Amino acid sequence: VSVPFITLNNGVEMPQLGFGVWQVADDEATKAVGTALEAGYRSIDTAAIYGNEEGTGKAIASSGIARDELFVTTKLWNSEQGYDSTLRAFDESLSKLGLDHVDLYLIHWPVPAKDAYVDTYKAFEKIYADGRAKAIGVSNFPTDHLERLLGETSVVPAVNQIELHPQLQQSASRALHAKHDIATEAWSPLGQGKGLLEVPTIVAIAQKHGRTPAQVVLRWHLQLGNVVIPKSVTPSRIQENIDVFGFELDADDLAAITALDEGKRLGPDPAGFNLGA
Ligand code: NAD
Repeated sequence: VSVPFITLNNGVEMPQLGFGVWQVADDEATKAVGTALEAGYRSIDTAAIYGNEEGTGKAIASSGIARDELFVTTKLWNSEQGYDSTLRAFDESLSKLGLDHVDLYLIHWPVPAKDAYVDTYKAFEKIYADGRAKAIGVSNFPTDHLERLLGETSVVPAVNQIELHPQLQQSASRALHAKHDIATEAWSPLGQGKGLLEVPTIVAIAQKHGRTPAQVVLRWHLQLGNVVIPKSVTPSRIQENIDVFGFELDADDLAAITALDEGKRLGPDPAGFNLGA
């Protein structure tokens, strides 16, 4: 399998499809990431709060894959926001991963009640300048927080990783990202495998192409230009989710899926999410 790259706003190439490991225990992550790397995934999305940076790092180390062929993302947890605490938390993430740099470092949530994301991002700029993160960005930043960050810092975030799937299409965020050349990365791209994969429109399109609902949803993201990081610990699904480069949705399929937008969040609304503040 060969996954296409998208070029981030600083020239770094990021695989358009990667592997997410939220809610995967540390030891289980070693196995799941190992399976994903064997299946051809080269981008892994973890976070300090997932508690599986060590397990992820072990899988990377034992894979035998050259470091420069891998794209590793981790995220700063909310409780560590602030300039000095960010630098310390980053060191800890690197050490758990067993790496000397990450490819992408993200502020996990803006945490408005703490009002520290600008200082936090200034520490990210230092980490970036030192070459210890090849790209820096944010996650869960609504347009107002992102605009403030753009106004008060120098390095335009390479990525904003947000909840995005056919039932929550985030058109305002995507438009702002496009304006600033910020890549849109979709979390819970499959809608957490809950109701979305049974929606009749998706099932019908899957039947039409002889593909699975999950593959249709991932194709929709890819054709929209999103970066996707589907998660699974089931080897057959890990395979299935990367086997999405041999077919294309047509304009009717895309329009039918676009009509499914209902602003349905599965996760918290970032504007009021202050866990760890
Ligand atoms: P997802 O949309 O990737 O769905 C994963 C679930 O869907 C699996 O647990 C499984 O139950 C099901 N599934 C997976 N493949 C399937 C298939 N082929 N057929 C049928 N069902 C299938 O949800 P997610 O794990 O929430 O999101 C993906 C990744 O995004 C996470 O692992 C994490 O890396 C990232 N994420 C980031 C944030 C953030 O705040 N930045 C929040 C949530 C998730």
